[in-house]
Amino acid sequence: MPGEFELIDWLRRQTQDLPREIIRDIGDDAAILRSEEPLAVSKDLLVEGVHFRREWISPWLLGCKALRVNLSDLAAMSARPLACLLGLGLPKELCGAWFEPFMEGFLQETREYRCPLIGGDLSAAPSILVSVTVLGRVDAPGPIYRDQARAGDRIGLVGPVGRSRRALQLLSKRTFPGLTLVRNRAQLRKLGTDEETDLLHTHFLPEPQLEAGLWLGQRGLARASIDVSDGLAADLGKMAAASGLRAVLEAEALVPRGSGGEPSDLDIMLHGGEDYALLFSADQEILDQLRSEYPPQLPPFRVVGRFEPGQPGVWLDEDSQLRLIEDKGFDHFS
Ligand code: ADP
Ligand code: MG
Repeated sequence: MPGEFELIDWLRRQTQDLPREIIRDIGDDAAILRSEEPLAVSKDLLVEGVHFRREWISPWLLGCKALRVNLSDLAAMSARPLACLLGLGLPKELCGAWFEPFMEGFLQETREYRCPLIGGDLSAAPSILVSVTVLGRVDAPGPIYRDQARAGDRIGLVGPVGRSRRALQLLSKRTFPGLTLVRNRAQLRKLGTDEETDLLHTHFLPEPQLEAGLWLGQRGLARASIDVSDGLAADLGKMAAASGLRAVLEAEALVPRGSGGEPSDLDIMLHGGEDYALLFSADQEILDQLRSEYPPQLPPFRVVGRFEPGQPGVWLDEDSQLRLIEDKGFDHFS
């Protein structure tokens, strides 16, 4: 089995075209960056047994997902990926056959999203721990914060919500032989029916809404934004609390009448989690402009609610009846 120094040596040789901001990458005590513009920095932890189960995901998929979920945070700040760092804690027996496909997935996504790996750390650990830090460039007019929504703003949503949770339900109901060996998209496709693998795809390879986030930021059309990682209601609740407003979600916009949706659909959309969708607020007055200028090649956005003056909280508007949505967002320490 390869040792730590061999692994790091191997990582060094994977170097890609580095942006001009990166003066030194893997190999020294620290990477060195140059920057005139503001930088966005974000870190996420993925802990075995808490965020994923070794039997329900392949190392390749975990590598891909680890970078994608971090990029979703950059998307919400309207930052462009610049570079990333990877901290990896691994049980000794995994540093060969597991490490390799994990890195293959991770490095593939660093190329796909132009976010080169410039450093990190490796350690033996009792179970798998993945910690990714991403750095992003913030272009003028600047980042989009979560605390800038105003009363009267409409709430836009880019990307699906609820589907990732559906995939988890599927994974808990039936086993997919070969899942832990998946090493490319084609193999993921072969695991089940089209419908099943569509769900698994959303869960394992969530799409960070970078282009939408960048466009909204550069055009200065969104006031506030947040990425939906804990659930639509939970993350909208954070935006509402930070902005000192109440948020109202419109049931009809989430599950339109006549769409054949079941009552449980709404619940899963509200509380699903791991969606990595993008929520933003925009002035009611500029909504028409936003609609007409929104680039058709980007994933579409839909208007799902509004901000109102009032105590922070998330309410659901069903046929003009308002009810407070219970916060089922995940809290690790409660
Ligand atoms: P130090 O002992 O100074 O922390 P290391 O021996 O841990 O240095 O790391 C040597 C180099 O390899 C550093 O540049 C570090 O950023 C890089 N590195 C270590 N682990 C990883 C990893 N998992 N991914 C990317 N780079 C890594
Ligand atoms: Mg180290």
